[in-house]
Amino acid sequence: MRTIICQEPFRLALTTRSEPIAGPGEVLVRISRVGLCGTDYHIFAGRHPFLQYPRVMGHELSGEIVAVGPGTTLRTGGPVTINPYISCGRCVACRKGKPNACVNINVLGVHSDGGLSDMLVVPESAVIDAEGLTMDQAAMVEFLAIGAHAVARVPTNACGRMLVVGAGPIGIATALFGRLDGFDVMLTDQREARLAFARERLGFEGVFAGDALETVLAEQTGGDMFDVVVDATGSLPAMRRSLGLVAHGGALVLVGVAPGELAFEDPEFHKREAILIASRNALAADFERVIAAIRSGVIPTGILHTHSVDVGELPERFPELIAAADSVLKAITRF
Ligand SMILES: [Zn+2]
Ligand SMILES: [Zn+2]
Repeated sequence: MRTIICQEPFRLALTTRSEPIAGPGEVLVRISRVGLCGTDYHIFAGRHPFLQYPRVMGHELSGEIVAVGPGTTLRTGGPVTINPYISCGRCVACRKGKPNACVNINVLGVHSDGGLSDMLVVPESAVIDAEGLTMDQAAMVEFLAIGAHAVARVPTNACGRMLVVGAGPIGIATALFGRLDGFDVMLTDQREARLAFARERLGFEGVFAGDALETVLAEQTGGDMFDVVVDATGSLPAMRRSLGLVAHGGALVLVGVAPGELAFEDPEFHKREAILIASRNALAADFERVIAAIRSGVIPTGILHTHSVDVGELPERFPELIAAADSVLKAITRF
């Protein structure tokens, strides 16, 4: 079978491997589509901490079950999507129903080989039925679930204005689910092209994240600022700045992860009685919510899916997709 391997930073190769076999409790999935995202770009560029090469990337997956191992209850067929966050089921987080924050988490395509391959074996518990979705849509469920999870992390009594910092794929996913939850959503970014996409294609107001950001946002909100600010940048300076955009009594949700130390002025945090929340990965319930939303037609997946690449072209076209990040919202590899 064909497999795309990242042999070392900046070196992707199309190779062949023998087909894996589903063991007890596992299923063999024929991969149809693989969405590409910032995580893959970081792995390719050697910027992912703790990653060992060679690695097969790919964690935004769709396909169909073609064989099942002993003791599995699933049947063959599709479309299915895969929850790539494989949890241990035993640790403190798993016992609390938070496998997305599993102490021993294994993320397909990061900690172990992912789905940029004709075939992939996964535990049957990772398979999610995506009936009614196209293969392209089913491959978009994972990144949308990250946004849905960020919105699900917002305290239930929060309502009103939401500001999403960073208008990349995760920021857009968050904005879409924030809007579905009834928030008045605005975006900010340092890249005009991304704000223009969000405004023209998705109807989100955006503010350029320049020097005057605080002033402009204060004007737009009558001085109140935002009940919920969601950081989807993974940039420490942006995360630090975000606290100043939170309304008194509001919440700051951090989706993007940044290496390093995040520091705030405590009086700024305290005077707001702000709530600081991390959002990591996504839960099965978030995947289900996304699938239901796509089925009901409220997520414009055709607009979000901006680029397609055939598997054979991927090694050559990958650098170009990274370079065009301002105009690539979601690129999907076709098998
Ligand atoms: Zn991703
Ligand atoms: Zn665990």
